[in-house]
Amino acid sequence: MKIVSDRSLCVGAGQCVMFSPNLFAQDDDDGLVVVLVADIDASAVEDAKNAVRACPSGAIKLVDDNGEEIF
Ligand code: SF4
Repeated sequence: MKIVSDRSLCVGAGQCVMFSPNLFAQDDDDGLVVVLVADIDASAVEDAKNAVRACPSGAIKLVDDNGEEIF
């Protein structure tokens, strides 16, 4: 499973970092999302889902190994 971000949608709100600082950061220059761990294992799935739920702009999602959106 992978985390995919679309920085063109990110508004730098930072909720992803607040919910899952182990998986996300914000760029020092523009404040946009930086995915720290793209390939996640089962132990990180709930943290990743919490971040996806919290993002106000739909800038992050989870995809399977075929690139299909799963969350
Ligand atoms: S929560 Fe969404 S909009 Fe906010 S920084 Fe993270 S990806 Fe960007």
